[in-house]
Amino acid sequence: MRVLLIEDEAKIAGFVCAGFKEQGFVVDHAAHGDTGFSMASNGSYDAIVLDIMLPGRDGLSILKGLRKLGNVTPVILLTARNELDDRILGLTLGADDYLAKPFFVEELIARILALARRVSGERQNILAVGELNLDRISRVATWRGETVDLTSREFNLIEYLMRAPGRVFTRTQILEHVWGYDFDPSTNVVDVCIQRIRKKIASIRQEASGDSPIESVRGVGYRFRKLA
Ligand code: CA
Repeated sequence: MRVLLIEDEAKIAGFVCAGFKEQGFVVDHAAHGDTGFSMASNGSYDAIVLDIMLPGRDGLSILKGLRKLGNVTPVILLTARNELDDRILGLTLGADDYLAKPFFVEELIARILALARRVSGERQNILAVGELNLDRISRVATWRGETVDLTSREFNLIEYLMRAPGRVFTRTQILEHVWGYDFDPSTNVVDVCIQRIRKKIASIRQEASGDSPIESVRGVGYRFRKLA
């Protein structure tokens, strides 16, 4: 689950980001409306949490702009109690839900998961390639019916590759999608994480990791084998 939070209040952004990370979400944060809009329109997110009152472009204008661009990413608006008109306007402009401040981060997470369920009901809950299955709702991975004990980061990474089997993803693409933009691109966390996933799958298969479902493409990156 990759979420963009556009919120200028540092305190709120802090506890929301912490709660999201604890939940295993990958979170990008923008504190300015203009930055937020550009991240929202250029990145691929599973959900956007959008404050209304922001420096620069305000939340409703961001929402309107995104929908105008054909961007249908689920949006949850954060509103102050007295912003009822904004809430109604927001829903009219294409917001999927709203939450009044103050709120508990647990409730925000529950609403994001509910939205994801709704959206993935239209897509697919189960991602299956070869003998590997991912349940995107319960977040359980299985190989030939046996559970592969993945961390949420490992799950996010393999889910990302499995969305497009056979397609090569660069380390930078994987890093941005699974870790977020603020990561040092020279880090080797992607390679380390992939090694761990391969080992976990290999330990279930009791085979050499040589024919792992995740293939290295020398000098480029990684891909999920089309036929595992
Ligand atoms: Ca604000």
